[in-house]
Amino acid sequence: MELTDWKNLPFGYIKTDYNIRCYYRHGNWGELEISSDDHLNIHMAATCLHYGQQAFEGMKAFMGKDGKIRLFRWQENARRMTRSAEGIFMAPFPEDLFKKAIEKAVLLNRHFVPPHGTGAALYIRPLLIGTGAEVGVKPANEYMFVVFVTPVGPYFKEGFNPVRIAIEKDSDRAAPLGTGHLKVGGNYAASLRGIMKVVKAGYSSPMYLDAKEKRYIDEIGAANFFGIKNNTYITPRSDSILPSITNKSVMTLAEDMGLRVECRPVEVEELESFEEAGACGTAAIIAPIGEVHDLETGKTIIYGKDGKPGPVSTSIYKKLTGIQFGDIEDKFGWMEIIG
Ligand SMILES: *Cc1c(COP(=O)(O)O)cnc(C)c1O
Repeated sequence: MELTDWKNLPFGYIKTDYNIRCYYRHGNWGELEISSDDHLNIHMAATCLHYGQQAFEGMKAFMGKDGKIRLFRWQENARRMTRSAEGIFMAPFPEDLFKKAIEKAVLLNRHFVPPHGTGAALYIRPLLIGTGAEVGVKPANEYMFVVFVTPVGPYFKEGFNPVRIAIEKDSDRAAPLGTGHLKVGGNYAASLRGIMKVVKAGYSSPMYLDAKEKRYIDEIGAANFFGIKNNTYITPRSDSILPSITNKSVMTLAEDMGLRVECRPVEVEELESFEEAGACGTAAIIAPIGEVHDLETGKTIIYGKDGKPGPVSTSIYKKLTGIQFGDIEDKFGWMEIIG
């Protein structure tokens, strides 16, 4: 692909020059290896292929006006990957090696980092998989860590414009005592049924409810939900939600902007009372929600006027992206320049 059309980058896979790999054998992680092959050669009985021993991360590198590349809160992603690994009995990848691997992957592909001002970024995808061959259900004794990077544009074709969401009641992405709080592929497999259903009906993402009672809001596809009312930022608390680093950062920003922050169970019934609503995650940063539709009752809740994002969502979005691209002072120490 022609790497000049930065403003029209899709959110998809574009081959870059190098990826980084590391192998766990005989109880130890080896050295980082550089590869230019974008295929993996693994055993057909690897546990990642059969029993879902797989965890991943999603983060971004941003190009500043100063021509320097910065990472956003990478320690949070490293820690979360450790929790995901432990949660499904995989060998955790050491956090110092995690940093070295992503840094290498970004710097070796530095001409793929989209220029400042295009709104695009270099997406970083660390991956941890069970590669040991097993037939019985048990944790593998060999693992592989891979990190690849790919330049990405906006996650939703709408960009920073309101998306339409449909409430999903016919399927669940995670069980109350399951793996919803871990970033593992199995949750995504479970979410495809709901995603495909609502996409077919013309919506961007499903709103998942708690699996037990279908009374509380869990997540919006692969993003956390938030609502705003009475100068308060409200986001659901539940054991089956993936703790989003974007959401954690937005809570800090909201507080800093003088909003109250509440992290608590949020009933679907409460949707009507919000002045603004949105979804947040690394891919979309913030996607303002323009409409939540209940496919069962036909009821629709509309947010905002003239199809524009609300003022609070807009200023949070500008603050966070401003910090990430180095245009606004990083007073929380979230960014690390790597070269
Ligand atoms: C990755 C992910 C998010 C967003 O987390 P960030 O750290 O903000 O990128 C939210 N929900 C799910 C299910 C996810 O997998």
